[in-house]
Amino acid sequence: MMITPEIVILSIILLVFGLLFVLSGLRLRSKRAIVLHLFIYAGLGLASNLFRLMGALNIASLPGVSYNLLGELTLLAMILAFGTLTLSFLNKERNILVGFWIGALVILLLWGAFVFNAGNLGSIALVPGINNALILSGVGWVLAVAISFAVLGAEFRKRQSVKHLNRLRYWLVAAALMATSGLILFISPVIFYWAGQLLILVASMLAGYTVLSYHTADLNLLVGRAVHYLGITGVITVIFYFSLAVTVIVSRSALNRVNVFFWTVLLALLLALIIRPFWLLSNQLLTRIIFGKKYRDDKQIIRHYSQRVSTALDIQRLGDIVIDLMIETLGIEEGVIFVNERGGGSKVSLRPLASVGVSGLATGNFGVDSLFIDYFRNGKKFLHQYDVDVLPEFSSLRPEERTWLSGTGMELYVPILRNRELVGILAFGPRSQGTAHYEEDIELMIALADQTALAMDSARLFEQLATINLEVGSLSEQLAGMDQSKTDFLSIASHELRTPLTHIHGYSRMLLELTEEELQDPAYVRTIIEGVVKGSDRMKTVVDMMFDVTEAHIGDMNLFLGPVALEEVIDQATRPFLPALDERRIAFGKTGFDEMPIIEADGTRLVQAFENLISNAIKYTPDGGMVKIESRPIVMENVGSAVEIVVVDNGIGIDPEHHEKIFEKFFRVDDTEHHSTGKTKFKGAGPGLGLTLVKGIAQAHGGKIWVESLGEDEVNFPGSKFFLVFPLHPVRVTEKDGAKQKQSQIETVHWRSKDLKPDKE
Ligand code: ADP
Repeated sequence: MMITPEIVILSIILLVFGLLFVLSGLRLRSKRAIVLHLFIYAGLGLASNLFRLMGALNIASLPGVSYNLLGELTLLAMILAFGTLTLSFLNKERNILVGFWIGALVILLLWGAFVFNAGNLGSIALVPGINNALILSGVGWVLAVAISFAVLGAEFRKRQSVKHLNRLRYWLVAAALMATSGLILFISPVIFYWAGQLLILVASMLAGYTVLSYHTADLNLLVGRAVHYLGITGVITVIFYFSLAVTVIVSRSALNRVNVFFWTVLLALLLALIIRPFWLLSNQLLTRIIFGKKYRDDKQIIRHYSQRVSTALDIQRLGDIVIDLMIETLGIEEGVIFVNERGGGSKVSLRPLASVGVSGLATGNFGVDSLFIDYFRNGKKFLHQYDVDVLPEFSSLRPEERTWLSGTGMELYVPILRNRELVGILAFGPRSQGTAHYEEDIELMIALADQTALAMDSARLFEQLATINLEVGSLSEQLAGMDQSKTDFLSIASHELRTPLTHIHGYSRMLLELTEEELQDPAYVRTIIEGVVKGSDRMKTVVDMMFDVTEAHIGDMNLFLGPVALEEVIDQATRPFLPALDERRIAFGKTGFDEMPIIEADGTRLVQAFENLISNAIKYTPDGGMVKIESRPIVMENVGSAVEIVVVDNGIGIDPEHHEKIFEKFFRVDDTEHHSTGKTKFKGAGPGLGLTLVKGIAQAHGGKIWVESLGEDEVNFPGSKFFLVFPLHPVRVTEKDGAKQKQSQIETVHWRSKDLKPDKE
């Protein structure tokens, strides 16, 4: 058997198609239409060349069917399959694919019918003078190639992403090779068997490469690199050629052998000196001409970058600096820095911090298990939007996440990672030159993202420091407030206690110094003793009040519970004030008590509470005013069935800014220099403990207290309303871990009994 060149070529072609067939066969599991089409295409290519090889080897064929004819039929089928391959490469809908396949089958059937003379069709001439098979083959080729070009053209206009365009370019080259090969076939079948077949082979390899690898090498870049290397090689060749020529001239002109040696060594030395700078220079020059970018020193850039970003003391400033540097060092025209608002937690919210060339971006929210975020968490250093679009591993990305990503218009994402947590993302738009981002650029971006992560840490720390500073500031204000209330306490307590103490002191000295004669006067002695008693009573009141307030404050007030009729409580509390009401002509009334239920409470404490409220009402109401007490049963949130008692006056009123503060210890609206001036005198100051105690009593019962008043006004007297709410049964509310625990019903509540009875005047 003779091994002809044809057999060798056919074998190589077979090998390539076989490889494509196996590779696509292995990927069939991915169930993607494009892989199936590639498989069919490679299968047909394999079959067609196998038939031709069998023909070339003169292997006996079945009668009436020549291998060459079978080869031609499968070649036509393969070309038609290239058409469908293009359609599925561009993700055309299923019915378009099916339609094309039906058309292709019709052509193939007709071709078979005519060529194999089924039903005597062979005798009909489609176009007189031209072979039927040739016509049908022509139609098939033109159909496949024309459709491929048409859809590719439409796609080129639609796509902007550099990576997508690059992929399309590969396909365009493959389609062009197919078209040329078809042209050769119709011009001369003989040339086709050499050149045409080779073109088909290259086209198939390109198509196979594009389908099977998601990342096609950048064509522009490839061509650019080739030109670059050729250029450099050329430059170096010129230098060598020039030195060689000089050596030859020298050796010819100089007669002396030593001279020749000397000149050659000198030349070699010169060459050794200039070759490196020359190479660098031409490299920079060519890089600039071909790739349109400057030669740069990455280390220098990173150093400069890290110095600049480390000066940012807050995140926003950092974002602005990063964008500026991205423009400066990478020539970025579109870019965004996103920051993860959740600070590296499981969910990720990417907020645009600063940007160039894009605006109006919204914050992107990603779920706990987002594929996009996981990709970076798994240590990947960058991601192309193109990958998100085409890689099968992103096919189950949430639609809203996909929409947000493609909406940003970015082409490349570089994560800013701290300890594997995503703190932000640098996103880069397409390059202005229309080429993909160079690998060196991406490496630099990754390095810059690392620097940004470090700077972000320190910026965050600075921000935290600032917040802590603020907190310390407000704490020291609080401390100052506490200091003030301590001072208030001392001044009030000393006033409140010193006045009665002075009385006691004075009267007791008088007692000591009583003369015999004075001792005989019981009325005089009584006055003195009454003075001592009054002073000590007052002292006891103040000290007891302080004690009660302290008890209430630490939630340790003892209640002696029993059935309480509220009207009775009010009557008892009012009794001591009847003379004062009379004297100052203040009208007094009470309403609503007929319908009031009996409540469970500590009656003595309730009397104490109302005494304070009534005393205040009288104190802050001018002569001739009015004080009334209203009551009604209510149902209140967090309290349940309850009674509400309102102490209303038409006195001077209270400024809304003091509505909370008056319930605090030692708080008095006017300054603390006034000392106690009685329990009923108009505007008579007290120790500032009364309302604190009332609040303590209300709370100990699980009740509430608050005040309503339009404001303080000593001309129009807007008056005040003090609201007190008591539950029908006392509820102790303990605030534990922020949750309110209710312990209702008297049986279950252990009120500690203590032999302390409130004092009454
Ligand atoms: P004090 O012993 O000074 O009366 P309180 O705790 O009873 O202390 O009241 C605190 C402050 O609330 C009083 O100094 C007074 O300014 C204001 N106040 C209380 N009740 C009334 C009221 N009915 N009308 C106007 N102001 C009131």
